[in-house]
Amino acid sequence: MKFEPVIGLEVHAQLKTRTKIFCGCSTAFGAPPNTHVCPVCLGMPGVLPVLNKGVVEYAMKMALATNCHVEGTSRFARKNYFYPDLPKGYQISQYELPIARQGHINITLEDGTTRQIGITRIHMEEDAGKLVHDPDRPVSYVDYNRTGVPLIEIVSEPDIKSPEQAGAYLRQLRAILRYLDISDGNMEEGSFRCDANVSVKLKGESEFGTRTELKNLNSFKFVEKALAYEIERQIEVLGEGGSVVQETRLWDAEKNLTVSMRGKEEAHDYRYFPDPDLVPLVIDNGWIEEVKKALPELPDQRRRRFVKDYALPEYDADVLTASRELADYFEDCASGLDNPKTASNWIMGELMGLLNTRGVTAAGSPVSAQRLAGLIRLIEEGVVSGKIAKTVFDEMAESDKDAKTIVDEKGLVQVSDESAIEEIVAKVVDNHPEEVQRYREGKTKLFGFFVGRVMKETQGKANPQVVNRILKDRLSK
Ligand code: ADP
Ligand code: MG
Ligand code: ZN
Repeated sequence: MKFEPVIGLEVHAQLKTRTKIFCGCSTAFGAPPNTHVCPVCLGMPGVLPVLNKGVVEYAMKMALATNCHVEGTSRFARKNYFYPDLPKGYQISQYELPIARQGHINITLEDGTTRQIGITRIHMEEDAGKLVHDPDRPVSYVDYNRTGVPLIEIVSEPDIKSPEQAGAYLRQLRAILRYLDISDGNMEEGSFRCDANVSVKLKGESEFGTRTELKNLNSFKFVEKALAYEIERQIEVLGEGGSVVQETRLWDAEKNLTVSMRGKEEAHDYRYFPDPDLVPLVIDNGWIEEVKKALPELPDQRRRRFVKDYALPEYDADVLTASRELADYFEDCASGLDNPKTASNWIMGELMGLLNTRGVTAAGSPVSAQRLAGLIRLIEEGVVSGKIAKTVFDEMAESDKDAKTIVDEKGLVQVSDESAIEEIVAKVVDNHPEEVQRYREGKTKLFGFFVGRVMKETQGKANPQVVNRILKDRLSK
């Protein structure tokens, strides 16, 4: 029996407005507990929420950037449930009339092809507070600074077919939020949260199986791991003739498995009803057009432009446009160079390696785009070999010096002088008569051995093209 997974994701993104969604309290992160609060966000009786226009504008930006239809009229509802971090006893959210519907985004798969993933809806809502559990005593605290911080929830169609695609979808959504500059999109800090719904069905079967909902996924890796685990688990249950129970399961990152948390609640459990304190939200076409016109270049568009303007492979364009900062870095670096692909190679290789080990983004790179361009220019001019350039790059990461200065100081200029190279080649060939004989008898793989010896003699500074030519010539005599 062949099973295939069906995945749909619900993403909550915190919006970066300066103030909360229904009051003027600050949304700033990291303030002392319960200092950014007022009667409205503390849920005192008799207070009235006032909708923050900035939140609506940000939600519209995301809707338009994900090809959604922005609804002329939408409405806020009360979603009732009891929880200590929800002082009102209900959360204000959009329910039957969300601000946007029926969109899609494109994701790029491993093989370079793209797939379209449908977006069912985007709605606005308020965040709840935060419970802090004392690790030493059986006591919990609640911090209401986060109550009323604006969120958008982005619900996908069940179009995602593997854990890897789920990862690609989330990365793309986050990239769009960041290009729009409306959310930090930081999963570890909780400004970008994902619940993953997954079921399995027999291949070719059109009806979906029973799904489970996975929570507590605070990194992309956990989303993919939890989905992979859950798909296996469901297949095993079905394979043994059992049936999957619709429930919410928690990912346990230490044990690498999902555990049942609670039965799945249904919409009617929440007793949704329109919030009588908030009038319907009406958005006219003029406003939609205004927001649309002000949209920045988005990851998809930038990727296509990179392929067209810089003649980059799809893969490179995809990697480089994953974040706005990295894409900016590439453009700064490539602008003065003959071949943008060289810049792309260096950025995807050495630079991203460096950023990874230092734990910084392209904007905080220890080697600026201009300095990297300077190094690449030295390669293009034949001043240093690609291999030496890596040493120079490492030096650049440790200092503020530019490539030229390091090359001059360390005497790393490439040796292209033919007579000097000829002399060294002659010496190497004379010192290895046995290898020369075997080479001439057909063991041509030994060529690399000779190149290596010559490079060693010159501390890697010999121009490889010249070495190859002179060596070939000499060995064939
Ligand atoms: P709820 O609000 O109860 O979580 P929704 O109907 O809004 O439920 O669906 C939530 C998510 O679950 C959506 O992303 C949807 O695509 C996905 N989903 C729905 N049915 C299935 C299924 N059978 N298998 C996998 N995902 C599903
Ligand atoms: Mg859900
Ligand atoms: Zn407030």
